[in-house]
Amino acid sequence: MDEKDRNLGMNRPITRRDFLSGVSVTIAGSILPRHLMALDQEFASEKSPDYYPPALTGMRGDHPGSFEVAHQMRDQHGWDLSGAINTGENYDLVVVGGGISGLAAAYFFLLNVGRKARVLVLDNHDDFGGHAKRNEFHYNGRLLVLNGGTLNIESPLRYNAPARQLLHDVGIDLDHYLSENAGNRKLYSSLGLKPAYFFDKQTWGSDRLVAPAPGYGEREEGFSLEFLSQAPVSVAAKKDLRRLNDAQQPDYMPGLSSAEKKDRLAKISYNDFLLNLAKVDKQVLWFFQIMPTGVFGVGTDATPALFCWEMGLPGFAGMKLEPTPEGVLADLPGGQHGRQKSAGGGGEIHFPDGNDTIARLLVRWLLPDSVPGKTMDDVGMARVNYALLDRPRQTVRIRLNSTVVNARHDGDPAKAESVIVTYVRGGQTYQVRGRACVMACWNMAIPYLVPELPATQKEALAFNVKAPIVYTSIAVRNWRAFHKLGISYVEAPTMYHTSVALSEASGLGGIQHPQTPDEPIVLHMVRTPNSPGQARKVQHRLGRIDLLSTTFDTFERNIRDQLARILGPGGFDPAGDIVAITVNRWPHGYSYTYNSLYDPMEWVFTTSHSRPCVIARQPFGLITIANADAAASPHTDAAILEAHRAVGEVLNRRAMPLLA
Ligand SMILES: Cc1cc2nc3c(=O)[nH]c(=O)nc-3n(C[C@H](O)[C@H](O)[C@H](O)COP(=O)(O)OP(=O)(O)OC[C@H]3O[C@@H](n4cnc5c(N)ncnc54)[C@H](O)[C@@H]3O)c2cc1C
Repeated sequence: MDEKDRNLGMNRPITRRDFLSGVSVTIAGSILPRHLMALDQEFASEKSPDYYPPALTGMRGDHPGSFEVAHQMRDQHGWDLSGAINTGENYDLVVVGGGISGLAAAYFFLLNVGRKARVLVLDNHDDFGGHAKRNEFHYNGRLLVLNGGTLNIESPLRYNAPARQLLHDVGIDLDHYLSENAGNRKLYSSLGLKPAYFFDKQTWGSDRLVAPAPGYGEREEGFSLEFLSQAPVSVAAKKDLRRLNDAQQPDYMPGLSSAEKKDRLAKISYNDFLLNLAKVDKQVLWFFQIMPTGVFGVGTDATPALFCWEMGLPGFAGMKLEPTPEGVLADLPGGQHGRQKSAGGGGEIHFPDGNDTIARLLVRWLLPDSVPGKTMDDVGMARVNYALLDRPRQTVRIRLNSTVVNARHDGDPAKAESVIVTYVRGGQTYQVRGRACVMACWNMAIPYLVPELPATQKEALAFNVKAPIVYTSIAVRNWRAFHKLGISYVEAPTMYHTSVALSEASGLGGIQHPQTPDEPIVLHMVRTPNSPGQARKVQHRLGRIDLLSTTFDTFERNIRDQLARILGPGGFDPAGDIVAITVNRWPHGYSYTYNSLYDPMEWVFTTSHSRPCVIARQPFGLITIANADAAASPHTDAAILEAHRAVGEVLNRRAMPLLA
């Protein structure tokens, strides 16, 4: 180990349990004698008292052990079903995928047919929740919590009716939560902490942190003279940055109506708009490049100028664009756009573990004794008992570490009475039977799982190429460096992680957010592995390869180096101050949303039935399709709405008398 690595603390004893969960499950399964395989539930690793995935650190998200079977199935175009063990289990419904959509499908099904129905949820990860995951850190007797994926309930007032009902039924009380967190929401501003930009030496010649920068909701107010006086950019770029926020800007498309301008803005990227219409200095692009990544998974090079206008990015003041009607723009439930959000969407609700609070409350609704407690507040501290998720005599079962490799009708799909679902767990292939099956997994996996599907539907399912993204959680001993530097959020567009932030201040029940900089906290870093200049889907595919081929060691070195460079002047010591690191890697992250640079306008601006997501989500015999991809929308409420529709289709297919 060289001196630089030692200074960064690469030799420090933090837990690096890259290979813990999934792989140990595989080994446990594969050493069981074959005749005992069917009984492996009894010996499952989930039954161990210390089985608790939220507290695992190292490489999480799509963790080792969660994806290998699926990739093998993809590479060999299916799975050999000949040696599968029939577990003898029969269910009213088998749900593939234990994310919010899969859990919601189980909820809607039970709500409609009654609690006696038999439901099995299968998921390939060691934890439920899909993208909605929880990271826990235990340090000096204190529990620190952060979301490992899904961050917020966005625009709750725009949530669709089934999603609102679900939130209510599982016990979520947003008014109570908001009032409990009123103080937290002002915490960082009350300490004078502001957003900042970090100009990295590889791009700008030397490292420089500059604050205060405009915050997320203040983009239209632009960069202050104080900020620009310290920014290491050209005089021309400074002038242009000021000009973009000037209310007196010219109309860059004179003589066109608002609708005609919007049509053109939909067909050019924001980069094109800035360079070729607003004619700004090239350095200006750096400031905006990553802004759409949090929504679309790509930067301003691959995002239409119109979407950037909707998000509140500057340059459009002189163009007199008329407001976009509610609901237009890619049929995105929840209203993800800046302008729509500010107009009564209800803001963003952030639980300490993000929307995993919804997942945990849903699991409590499905299996009350597995998640101790009774209220929204007490779910914050609840330690889920994973041993209770999958027990022989219970009607609802959630089976983790189980990758579905096939689902086929037992006979002609038009007449069959059941679906045979095959999954791999611990190296062994098993089969269960369901009277219906909801695919609440990922669209692009479904053609492999259901080879019987019509070719046009398979093609439409494969259209959804998900955007890769990484949320990294770093537990640190204190946040004095942030306090000293006067910052709470740092954007670093050309670094490995493009942002680093103090975790959003929020508490739930016994989870108390740290109130002083001397207390430990979790930092939140984001990486979207983009290749600017390439077409959007090419960027997603390259990013996925990047994420799956990067070791935890590389992540750790980059994290330590980046934190040292940004926070070092505030006294941060990466070797001494970092307690633990959890890299939540999501190679298949956000659902693909239609993008007018690459897709027909009709798909983006209407709810046309020609959209691939509509063709893809058609029911097929007893198999229906839920999950957020079915709405082409990377949002929690979309995942819930699609579950509601998919369950409705199951119930419509035939009136279902329950199994005894
Ligand atoms: C980093 C990140 C941040 C996000 N932030 C927000 C946010 O702030 N607000 C918001 O509304 N939305 C957000 N989203 C989007 C939101 O998380 C999703 O839209 C929603 O949770 C999707 O739910 P889902 O159940 O459809 O899919 P998923 O959560 O992906 O769940 C599907 C599950 O099926 C499993 N699966 C796939 N194939 C198989 C198989 N063959 N066998 C068994 N299981 C399988 C998957 O591994 C996964 O666990 C975010 C997404 C990401 C990645």
